[in-house]
Amino acid sequence: MIVDTHAHLTAAELRRELDAVVARARDAGVGAIVTVGTDLVDSRAAVRLAQRTEGVWATVGVHPHDAAGLTEAALDDLAALAGSPKVVAWGEIGLDYFRDRSPRDEQRRWFRAQVVRARELGLPVVVHDREAHADTLAILKAEAGGELRGVFHCFSGDLSFAREVLALGFYLSIPGTVTYPKNDELRRVVASVPLERCLLETDCPYLAPQPRRGQRNEPSLIVHTAQAVAEVRGLAVSDVARVTTRASRTLFGVGEVGGARIAYPIRRSLYLNVTSRCTNRCAFCAKGRSPEVKGHDLTLEREPGIDEVLAAVEAEGGPAAWEEVVFCGFGEPLLRLDDVTALARELRRRGARRIRVNTDGLANLVHERDVAAELAGCVDAVSVSLNAPDAATYDRLCRPSVSGAYEGVLAFVRSAVARLPEVTASVVAVPGLDVEACRRVAESLGARFRVREYNEVG
Ligand code: SF4
Repeated sequence: MIVDTHAHLTAAELRRELDAVVARARDAGVGAIVTVGTDLVDSRAAVRLAQRTEGVWATVGVHPHDAAGLTEAALDDLAALAGSPKVVAWGEIGLDYFRDRSPRDEQRRWFRAQVVRARELGLPVVVHDREAHADTLAILKAEAGGELRGVFHCFSGDLSFAREVLALGFYLSIPGTVTYPKNDELRRVVASVPLERCLLETDCPYLAPQPRRGQRNEPSLIVHTAQAVAEVRGLAVSDVARVTTRASRTLFGVGEVGGARIAYPIRRSLYLNVTSRCTNRCAFCAKGRSPEVKGHDLTLEREPGIDEVLAAVEAEGGPAAWEEVVFCGFGEPLLRLDDVTALARELRRRGARRIRVNTDGLANLVHERDVAAELAGCVDAVSVSLNAPDAATYDRLCRPSVSGAYEGVLAFVRSAVARLPEVTASVVAVPGLDVEACRRVAESLGARFRVREYNEVG
């Protein structure tokens, strides 16, 4: 499912053939649409439309173009409208210094007032910011009081501004302009921020994506935006749809998301989540912030048995359907060494083309034997978290629960290089880490080297 988090279905050119527009959206995999109010009359229309149309939700608010003449009484009416269960946010509100259709002081006054109303109602805000980045952020920081959530719709800033928006706890909404050949700036933002903090939108009937640029936009065309984001991120469209739908669910409560997963696909690989236990407590580990990876919920109430893992793999089409099967998850799979080797043999028997284990490399110390020797023959590759060029840095970053951890990792990598077809030593590029020194360590062990992105705002 994809969610179009910002549409104007009340616009005459879409309203005239609404049933066909919504049907085309459903056929394209758009499971939910948020239609956005721009003034009191339009907000009333948006709420009515959402109430009578399955799969459509609404927002209420007054656009900065119409800020002049706005009254507290109109805000009272909007607040009453917001009582509808189909209303999921207050917006679009903000500042537009490009067109300046209302005086700037009026824009700022009513943006503030609407932010306060949204906060009082516990609603997220949908922010319109055009050439007014500094003032928009200043008002949100001053009025949010740490409780406000929201999204910068049709994000148009650079990476540095995106980081400020994310630091405020807000989301970025990516429109069809990401498909435009000259829009490298937005693609750079999309490539660099956590996708978990991005939404997709059409802003239809405006801003049609590249193949239909200049024509009337509609929700079904959001697939081109999802495709462009997938290309930028090196993901499948289904990955982008899942991650951004989960973000929409978190912010607006809109969009269907799946439950906790044992087997979870990303790109053309199937990952297996067999434990939440870990030998380390890495300072950069994401699991303390969220149980989600690429839109999948990896919460495990208990460790799944071998039969449960195999059933989960079969439910995803079986091991032969994937380029590789990877033991990964938010824990250390080799804590279940015997189960992992038994599973690997059975997955191979069922047609797995390639089997990889992502590991912290501490299993030799935990099991007090040479674990790499047991992986030989049933696993094709291991990816080992090296994470440091020396023991002191390792202990500081990874906070292992076993002593002699760094030397143990090095010994595991050495043994794995001698026994397995492919061994990669990886580091998370945390600020200040000497990545080149890590590379030299990996190469001295005969392993491949990979740098994983550290996303401090993730
Ligand atoms: S080894 Fe992986 S799962 Fe374990 S704490 Fe570190 S980052 Fe998290």
